[in-house]
Amino acid sequence: MTLTLTKIGSLIEQYTNDNISEQEMTWWLKTVYEEGLTHEETDLVVKAMLDSGATFNFSRLDKFVADKHSTGGIGDKVSLVVGPLMASAGLIIPMIAGRSLGHTGGTLDKLQSIPGYRDDLSMAEFQKTVLNVGIVMSGQTKEVCPADQKMYDLRDRTGTVNSIPLICGSIMSKKIAEGIQGLVMDVKVGNGAFMKTLEEAAILGSELKRIGEQFGVHVDIVHSDMNQPLGQEAGLWNEVTEALSCLRGEGPDDLKKVVLELGSKLLIQSGKASSVEEAIEIQTQLINTGKAMEKFVEMVAAQGGDSLVVENPDSYPAPNYKAEVLSNQDGFVNSMEMIDVGILVNRLTIRHTNNKRSLEPTGGIRFLGKIGDAVTKGEPLSVCFGSNEDEVNGAAEELDSLIKLSEERVEPPPLLY
Ligand code: URA
Repeated sequence: MTLTLTKIGSLIEQYTNDNISEQEMTWWLKTVYEEGLTHEETDLVVKAMLDSGATFNFSRLDKFVADKHSTGGIGDKVSLVVGPLMASAGLIIPMIAGRSLGHTGGTLDKLQSIPGYRDDLSMAEFQKTVLNVGIVMSGQTKEVCPADQKMYDLRDRTGTVNSIPLICGSIMSKKIAEGIQGLVMDVKVGNGAFMKTLEEAAILGSELKRIGEQFGVHVDIVHSDMNQPLGQEAGLWNEVTEALSCLRGEGPDDLKKVVLELGSKLLIQSGKASSVEEAIEIQTQLINTGKAMEKFVEMVAAQGGDSLVVENPDSYPAPNYKAEVLSNQDGFVNSMEMIDVGILVNRLTIRHTNNKRSLEPTGGIRFLGKIGDAVTKGEPLSVCFGSNEDEVNGAAEELDSLIKLSEERVEPPPLLY
């Protein structure tokens, strides 16, 4: 790399404090994008980002402090379940979550569909919620890793987001700043993931783990599939309702399996369970006794959200319009073009008007058939929802071309690699 080790920290510090120009930073980002960084250099990037702002310290609570993170997907509402589930097991979960990125959905956008939910807590409010409830799910405060906020914006504008050392620096600095001891990362694999192959995902996963451990955080990596949506629902409120079903012990099997896999890693890290079997038993009990759901409701109320609607999701307003995608043949679901599916979901859920971003809480897609499922001509394959009739009809038309059918059945991809 073209900078000496000592200069990396000072470059990031000076950029954060507006002491060097965007051009200089862009030159460095582009060089990293093209040439990569050594481990030592990547660690310095993480340290400089951490040192650019404040960090949390929950060690006085004498409880295991942990988090879960995913590299992003479609219909991935796992954080909404694993977070409260782990908090109900007695772990402390100070989760800094994100908004939708590219074609992937964002936990904060989903939570925003709950009326009143505040995801812009100050550092003091974030801390207070963790102390009172044991869990918080909020956005990155301006005090935490300001270097990442500024650099991420520039990466986005200069086409340098997709660089393993920059992604790792960005994710891990925020996670380490939460003051966690343990982390489980779901590094997704498939045509709807940032990492298309298991080999690529494994490289990213091992680097995330290496960095975590360098900074004293125990990291477990899970690779789950993103060649099709997780669960049936992709969108905002519809994903919250599916997460609520899962917290009630219902909900689709694939979602439940990913939740239990990630949750087991954290329970074992924390010492609450000594085997996967025991961890699954603990989680099943917390779900069946309603404790996990109670924790979610408590967190929503603490962050200003309407807990009544969470307890009674049927009281939520229904989407104004829906349009079905019908199967044009007898056969099987073969594959889905997930990047375009994700872009479609984001189009139905996020609006950009006059440079202002707003949400369409009831927008989204329900997937009725998954890869390998039999389909019958004329029967619905999926349903698009939203508040604008033309948009919903247009989305259904487009979705029709993104779900591929075949006469022969194909084996569904593995859920966990
Ligand atoms: N998520 C982040 O927070 N940062 C990245 O660079 C990519 C994904």
